[in-house]
Amino acid sequence: MHDLLLRGGRVIDPEQGIDGICDVAFQGGKVAAIGPKLAQNAHEIRDISGLIVTPGLIDMHSHVYWGATALGVDAETISKRSGTTTFVDAGSAGAGNFAGLRRFIAEPSTPRILAYLNISFPGIFGFSKNVMVGECEDLRLLDSRECLALAEQNLDLIVGIKARVGARAGGSSGLAPLLLAIEVAEELGLPVMAHIDFPPPGRREVLDALRPGDILTHCFRPFPNAPITRGDQVRADIIEAHKRGIIFDIGHGFGGFSFRSARAMLAEGILPDVISSDVHVLCCDGPAYDVLAVMSKFMALGMPLTEVIRATTQNPARAMQRPELGSLKPGTPGDATVLDLCAGSFEHVDVSNEVITAQTRLFSKGMVIGGKWWLEASGC
Ligand SMILES: [Zn+2]
Repeated sequence: MHDLLLRGGRVIDPEQGIDGICDVAFQGGKVAAIGPKLAQNAHEIRDISGLIVTPGLIDMHSHVYWGATALGVDAETISKRSGTTTFVDAGSAGAGNFAGLRRFIAEPSTPRILAYLNISFPGIFGFSKNVMVGECEDLRLLDSRECLALAEQNLDLIVGIKARVGARAGGSSGLAPLLLAIEVAEELGLPVMAHIDFPPPGRREVLDALRPGDILTHCFRPFPNAPITRGDQVRADIIEAHKRGIIFDIGHGFGGFSFRSARAMLAEGILPDVISSDVHVLCCDGPAYDVLAVMSKFMALGMPLTEVIRATTQNPARAMQRPELGSLKPGTPGDATVLDLCAGSFEHVDVSNEVITAQTRLFSKGMVIGGKWWLEASGC
């Protein structure tokens, strides 16, 4: 007897190469079985025919340190509308305030919370519409020993080190915060996630510093530091970095994603490895909204549904070295998202205020987290 059975949905699990009508059973917090026409004996059976079931959606770039950092949003609120079962906080906390992210956010949360630890001791401390002070502007705040020691004590939650380099996040610090982050990450055997904004540093300097498996976020940003030329050609250094195994993460946010860059990259055959929202207070009501909205934008640009799901399940799970989170293989944590692919007319906007119209959009119809049905969402 299983705890929960999702019956008759279209299961799309890129990690296992599954796309077909299947039942999924959960038992003891884990996926117990998957296949067409499983035995119908479970305490709770949910008929989801006509809907899509995926491994639980991962938003690998988010800011969910609500209340303690001004940019944080409430993970459960965003989860309910977007079907996100795992949020990865991307550097809201540094060594000086990570304990609060664990105690007050991650531990009581129904959605899973993991984190990239900011190389800067206070994390992202000065971020609002009117106050914008980069945490990497003052190198006195960046201490490798503090960052390493804290990370070593919290490897159950920390999946890498975050460095925000750019004029907005780091003033005139240039590449230094990233070099410090890489040194810590090497000690830990973990990747770094590098944010770019306005130079300095320039895109090429950042790419040259990154190692295979490291993550470039805001990878499809508009000028400056865009991946494309004025003539919409993908830059050679971007193609080379992708071949070398740098992970390209979207990190939409309020400045990190343009349709123009995305169209040129897709035309070149470079899909984003990871689709993420960079959801925070200044973009949760647009233009980014949440990871499901960003997924829908990529569908509008012609990226196949299976690849969109791969970029929010299998790929982020692998990039975080947590492959068990990205599939519905029996024995893995019992996280799944139920989606409705709705037809209609839906407008999408990017950070440059370009608007496109799509004929379909994904809506969340609910989630399973740790083997338990969490909640019903309204859908379309
Ligand atoms: Zn961010």
